[in-house]
Amino acid sequence: MLIETRGNDGLRDAHIGLYEAILKPIASFNGLWSLDKIPYINIDDIKDLSYNDLTRYVFKILGADSSLLDEALMSYETFDNLNAPLEFSKLDDDLFLQKLYTGPTRAFKDMAMQPFGRILCNLAKQDSKKYLILTATSGDTGPATLEAIKNQPNIYAICMYPNNGTSDVQRLQMTTNDASNIKVLALNGDFDDAQSALKKLLNDSEFRDFLTKNNFSISATNSVNFGRIIFQIIYHIYSYTYLLRHNIIKSTESINIIVPSGNFGNALGAFYAKKMGVKINKIIIATNANSVLFDFIKTGKYNILNRKLLKTNSPAMDILKSSNMERVLFHLYGSSRTKELMENLDLHKTYEINSDELMELNTYFDAYVSSDDDVLSIIKEYAQKNVIIDPHTATALLAYKNSSKNDGRKNIIVSTAEWSKFAPTITKALHLDSINNDKDALHYISNKFALPIHKNIESLFNKNECNKTIINNDNISDVIKEWLKTIS
Ligand SMILES: *Cc1c(COP(=O)(O)O)cnc(C)c1O
Repeated sequence: MLIETRGNDGLRDAHIGLYEAILKPIASFNGLWSLDKIPYINIDDIKDLSYNDLTRYVFKILGADSSLLDEALMSYETFDNLNAPLEFSKLDDDLFLQKLYTGPTRAFKDMAMQPFGRILCNLAKQDSKKYLILTATSGDTGPATLEAIKNQPNIYAICMYPNNGTSDVQRLQMTTNDASNIKVLALNGDFDDAQSALKKLLNDSEFRDFLTKNNFSISATNSVNFGRIIFQIIYHIYSYTYLLRHNIIKSTESINIIVPSGNFGNALGAFYAKKMGVKINKIIIATNANSVLFDFIKTGKYNILNRKLLKTNSPAMDILKSSNMERVLFHLYGSSRTKELMENLDLHKTYEINSDELMELNTYFDAYVSSDDDVLSIIKEYAQKNVIIDPHTATALLAYKNSSKNDGRKNIIVSTAEWSKFAPTITKALHLDSINNDKDALHYISNKFALPIHKNIESLFNKNECNKTIINNDNISDVIKEWLKTIS
């Protein structure tokens, strides 16, 4: 059911199943695994399905191995709402917030990481091998990974985040984790450096030899791993059926989905949903000042040559190399064209599609940019209506205001994190300059707007940062080897 985005090099199978792609995400020519066929969904078959039944349905039509799925879906039982791992709220007649942060780490990464982590741990348990999971995080994937795999047998995780590039809550969610199968590394660099370091390790033959000798296999929990992407298709389909079931839209109507985007995994899920025939008009990509995706969707030119990654107040989107765009290129233009474009990116830090290709891309995507100031003013505007949103969600709300307000369609804002992960940004937006730390900001907002603080967030401030090693780009593999020697 999965094939490679840059074609096959003859050294491995050209077609593999989901579980193989989960355990071995490496594909020919540094490419990615993606769906070989995208089947059509019959909406009548799914419109009344529960969230978990919809997931089972999608696995079935994709031909994905579902032997571990029931157990994986049990991970959603720790989410706020027992019936579904997400919630909706109405902001306006044509505007709905899809809250994807009701899981243990309060960000949308839990939606995929929780069930995916169960599958991964079960696959590892069945195996006599030990698995090393490498994760590069811009702030939310790391905590979600660690939460999903802590203290599991046969599985070890290295989690790399950009030192000083996350919020305090995001950092504490990683560095206070004392599970012995987890090592947290603060990389002197930005998220792109962390992601590149990870890709390099995955392809470093000396490092891989060391792992083989010590009976480790390597895997990754970034959205380069298709095992995460598959779970990120479901909630986009579910938004549509939710609006149908509640008679908010008719079966002839299509909707817009607005996605705060960084590595493009979330938006890719919406792309697959649209390809499967779900009535999505446009997937609207909200970016921050690191607006490579905006430029690409508007001009056809992906260019990171003269760009420096900027630190913004929506740090989970501070990314220039948006990995999952590759899967879109593959489905629209084929594997040889994708290989050509991606090789250009690797060699020249840029690639460009032609005008026909751009026109095709634009039948799926539109894009908007937010500055840090835009984010602050949107947060303030909604706070005045008693709606507290996080800075990433704010970029999507700005895209809504600037875009589709008048096209008559209903809009889903994909809300990717709870405010509690970014409380100081909220107090800043409200001009509460005397509040200067995460804990005070959290309690202020919680009191003023009568919002609960989840126990997993509250408890972070009483823990030690016992799991933090600061490293430079050049000694990563040595640090990891040393750690592996101490645990194996
Ligand atoms: C990861 C993340 C994003 C970006 O999602 P991608 O799938 O990488 O595009 C946006 N907002 C938040 C809060 C995130 O954690």
